[in-house]
Amino acid sequence: MMTNADFRKHAHALVDKMADFLEEIDSYPVKSTLEPKAVLDQLPALAPAAAESMADIIADFDQIIMPGMTHWQHPRFFAYFPANSSYPSLLAEMLTATLGAQCMIWDTSPAAAELEERMMEWLGSMLGLPQTFTGVIQDTASTATLCALLCARERVSHNRINEQGFYGMKQLRVYASSQTHSSIEKGVKIAGFGRENFVAVAVDEQLRLDPNALKAAILKDLANGFLPCCVVSTVGTTGTTAIDPGKAIADICSEFNIWLHIDAAFAGSALILPEYRWMIEGVEQADSFVFNPHKWLFTNFDCTAYFVKDVDALLRTFSILPEYLKTDHQNSVKNYRDWGIPLGRRFRALKLWFVIRSYGIEGLQERLRAHIQMAIDLEEKIASHPDFEIIAPRTLNAIFFALKDEEVDKANSRSEQLMKALNATGKVYFSHTKAHGRYIIRMVIGQTYVQQKDVDLAWQLIQECAKTL
Ligand SMILES: *Cc1c(COP(=O)(O)O)cnc(C)c1O
Repeated sequence: MMTNADFRKHAHALVDKMADFLEEIDSYPVKSTLEPKAVLDQLPALAPAAAESMADIIADFDQIIMPGMTHWQHPRFFAYFPANSSYPSLLAEMLTATLGAQCMIWDTSPAAAELEERMMEWLGSMLGLPQTFTGVIQDTASTATLCALLCARERVSHNRINEQGFYGMKQLRVYASSQTHSSIEKGVKIAGFGRENFVAVAVDEQLRLDPNALKAAILKDLANGFLPCCVVSTVGTTGTTAIDPGKAIADICSEFNIWLHIDAAFAGSALILPEYRWMIEGVEQADSFVFNPHKWLFTNFDCTAYFVKDVDALLRTFSILPEYLKTDHQNSVKNYRDWGIPLGRRFRALKLWFVIRSYGIEGLQERLRAHIQMAIDLEEKIASHPDFEIIAPRTLNAIFFALKDEEVDKANSRSEQLMKALNATGKVYFSHTKAHGRYIIRMVIGQTYVQQKDVDLAWQLIQECAKTL
């Protein structure tokens, strides 16, 4: 058994190892190049009967695990959306693990509940959300969106589905753009709507939801005896960071009394910049809003901020009160077990507190503006290069480009080859999307440690690799 003295020794060594890793991360390949089963084959089929030394465990971590890691904290991680960490976030996460508290109700750690309440107030005001919104931390945006769908379901059925199930109900419909994140369709399946009741609404040239198409779909459904239940408006789609027209969508939801959920999972962080508040025009008409500090706000995964207008609707949907959870203070405190799906909850507010205080709002704004400026500058270079073209417009810090060719098929296959060649260098990591019949290389400049020199190196590699195809 490890003693406290052993722990102290290993922990000190480990902190040095962590700092070394982050100092040298640039020299690691961004994307792991291991073949399937390479790690699995090195792991014993059965757990060890006898105790093993920490030295052996750490040695195996270095030899078996590390080569199989893709480095999301590498400054040239340009793929997907970032899942950023930061030094203050890491420090808080170490304390969270040390405390090991299960923060299901106020009594099981008053500080966790009250810090969460205050952090959600901080975030709401940092983002310019209406003061009528109340926030709660969830694990992921997928879970938050599922919560929104369940609340919408209970509102439209007058809390009947929770009690009696769907039997005898009209079919409830959920609307979102064809570019919406897969978590919406997944939520529709899990919440019992039935996947056929997910209505993918057409988008315009810039891949934003077309409000006229939304209204037409709702009217058609009403004429056919369906019950419109929820609209999900996306602020920053995963494919191309398109911003759905919030005000027009909000007006349609108000007109038909439909629950409006805003999915700003990635782009929500940019709302700390006043110049981007236009992205949530009409937000005061929304019922719920989600964004992920664990993407672009330097707070390591997982940490999702979910805001609702009507807390009672949330509590009505989720609250349970078995005898063993009854406490003296239950009516005067927040018991977050009733604010979402799981009973057990990690102490996630601590890392937000560390990050926000350590950077300051101005420090966070400065980083985000620097990321956006790097994207603006690079997009200009790509657009003016004869071999490349921009396929979808930039709204924030993500750019969407491809190789040019007279024939679309050739442009697509060469762009795909280019991305794979770039990723194979180990020096950069990009991901792709498809739109307008084109294969698009996505480059998101938003990693915690990314600097201009990393973007310059990436652009140099892009040009060099393109020549060798
Ligand atoms: C990343 C993302 C999600 C899913 O986020 P998770 O926290 O991983 O569930 C949902 N919607 C959008 C727009 C996203 O970018």
